[in-house]
Amino acid sequence: MTAGNVPFIIKIKIMPKVNTIAPQTGAAFTIKKGQFLTVSDPLGSQVSDMVLFNNNDKREKISAGKSMDFEETILLTKGNFLWSNRSQKMMEIVEDTNGRNDFLLAPCSPETFQIMYDNHEEHPSCLNNLKVNLSNYAIELDEIPTAFNIFMNVQFDSKGKISVLPPTSVAGDYVTFKAEMDLIVCLTACSAEDSNGGTFKPIHYQITD
Ligand SMILES: [Zn+2]
Repeated sequence: MTAGNVPFIIKIKIMPKVNTIAPQTGAAFTIKKGQFLTVSDPLGSQVSDMVLFNNNDKREKISAGKSMDFEETILLTKGNFLWSNRSQKMMEIVEDTNGRNDFLLAPCSPETFQIMYDNHEEHPSCLNNLKVNLSNYAIELDEIPTAFNIFMNVQFDSKGKISVLPPTSVAGDYVTFKAEMDLIVCLTACSAEDSNGGTFKPIHYQITD
């Protein structure tokens, strides 16, 4: 046995970049059909609002109504699709370690804090963070639809009364989506006290092939 000629094999595993959305901010980016987007909650109990637009025609966008109709549920999770206003599949939810998301409530906005919290001070909001980041893609405020609210824990009773409870997600929980078309994606780390158990944490996301 000689050790001199043993070939040296270096295995490099390229890990996909983890992107961080700072507390009470947002990010917009594109992904291609067939790619995967993983949105994770690194510290636990943090909501991320997500909106989608067809990158080839921005008039096509995520639709809560179509999605709940075609999926026959208001609690979308692993195995469900997110549909567009043109009745096309935009994403499939392929993994969901927490299993509780919301598709009923609009992104928190400056008016949310005035109406729901009686707070008339300047306050960060998902809607403003969506608007600021989507302006990079020439998408305007009035074009922003109801978001898919990842990790958001909205409960309702048999009479339809709604309550927003802290997310059940714990540190490391994640949801993975597969893109069914080329997409513009905008994500937030939600700014509403009641939606996030009273504290504001970051959100992580990764794009993989
Ligand atoms: Zn929010």
